[in-house]
Amino acid sequence: MNFNIVGDIFFPPACVSCGDSIAHGALCAACRHSIVLFNTFFCGICTARLPDGKKICHKDALFLLGAAAPYDDDALRALIHALKFQGIAAAAVPLAEILAAYTAQLQLDLHEWTVAPIPLSRERARARGFNQSALIAQPFARAQGIPFSEHLLIRIVHRKPQSDTEDIFERRENIKGCFALAPGADVERKNIILVDDVVTSGTTFAEAARILRLAGAKKVLALAVAKA
Ligand SMILES: [Zn+2]
Ligand SMILES: [Zn+2]
Repeated sequence: MNFNIVGDIFFPPACVSCGDSIAHGALCAACRHSIVLFNTFFCGICTARLPDGKKICHKDALFLLGAAAPYDDDALRALIHALKFQGIAAAAVPLAEILAAYTAQLQLDLHEWTVAPIPLSRERARARGFNQSALIAQPFARAQGIPFSEHLLIRIVHRKPQSDTEDIFERRENIKGCFALAPGADVERKNIILVDDVVTSGTTFAEAARILRLAGAKKVLALAVAKA
């Protein structure tokens, strides 16, 4: 017997946002539908929201930024907290669905793309037990029918979380040199989708995109579920 089934019988799941009991999953239908998705891209450099249909703001951006919904949305924030800080893995599924609904709305052709999560350092992965970005990226890739490469990028330096930094300058310094392409990985002429749970200043995506482009990646699309 599946342990999740046993768990559901004794502890019927509750919506992580409103607390209503639900048959399965992490979010009730009402809370899911309350989340209003963005319908544009953002600039990879200044994170400004781009006008409808536009993909360019700062021309030298190494990547295009997408974010599904605002982080100050209660239901979305509750999902991310449940996944990251309460270890409720089921919360990754609606987060992946929200990301998929956003890319569907933008009518992106993701055919020739490979999905990779922003990696955690080994220390943090060990402490948390999982990489929340990978848990979101995998079902997202599966829904798109495109490859998922969990360890395309590795984190080679362990520093403090970006959320503990004071300003954009410290964020840039803090993340610099943190990532490397995994040994044997080949991204030459490939299109890579980077996935993370939350984007704030975009410095983490920018550093990951820089490594990918240096290694020959053609295009990089950075997708966050939430934009702070
Ligand atoms: Zn709810
Ligand atoms: Zn810009």
